[in-house]
Amino acid sequence: MKLVFATHNQNKLREVQLLMPKNITLLSLSDIDCTEEIPETAETLEGNAKIKADYVTQNYGLPCFADDTGLLIEALNGAPGVYSARYAGEQKNDEDNINKLLKALTTKNRSAHFKTVIALNLNNESHFFEGTVFGLISKKKIGNGGFGYDPIFIPNEFKQTFAELPMSTKNKISHRGKALQKLIAYLKTLN
Ligand code: IMP
Repeated sequence: MKLVFATHNQNKLREVQLLMPKNITLLSLSDIDCTEEIPETAETLEGNAKIKADYVTQNYGLPCFADDTGLLIEALNGAPGVYSARYAGEQKNDEDNINKLLKALTTKNRSAHFKTVIALNLNNESHFFEGTVFGLISKKKIGNGGFGYDPIFIPNEFKQTFAELPMSTKNKISHRGKALQKLIAYLKTLN
């Protein structure tokens, strides 16, 4: 079965391909010549993931899954949440987002969690898979690895930020890793 992962990120794609059941050929958006920016207009992670998966299925006639992630800060009532990518503006800049967050978070309570939702459109039915990881927001940026908010997120049970941890460790415990493991377990039941 051909299955589209609604991403342009070849690294994400390769990582997921390795975990897929052998009967599934994974395709990226570039593989199907989908170059348009799919608008993420929903107010929930579920909604945005579903918009992306449904867009590909409706326009390209292939089953598809898409992910959407947010960082939810307890003391900021769940912000930036679904707006994590454009927290500091439409330029979607990681550095700006982190700086804005460190300024906004003045409380002692630095608890936060990442949440990923994957929406799968298969035979025109939607299936959802979630993953979360809980942790603390550091007072400053630490580490050079990863992307996004990784330099300020210390997962529970660890002393380092996601940007300091090896990618293999992050993938095992992360929000996206956990959601992907659930998706893959479901796809394996279809054999
Ligand atoms: P997206 O849904 O993957 O586009 O992510 C939305 C926002 O969350 C972007 O600002 C990303 O940089 C951030 N984000 C997503 N996943 C991670 C992660 O694993 N670590 C740090 N930031 C992330």
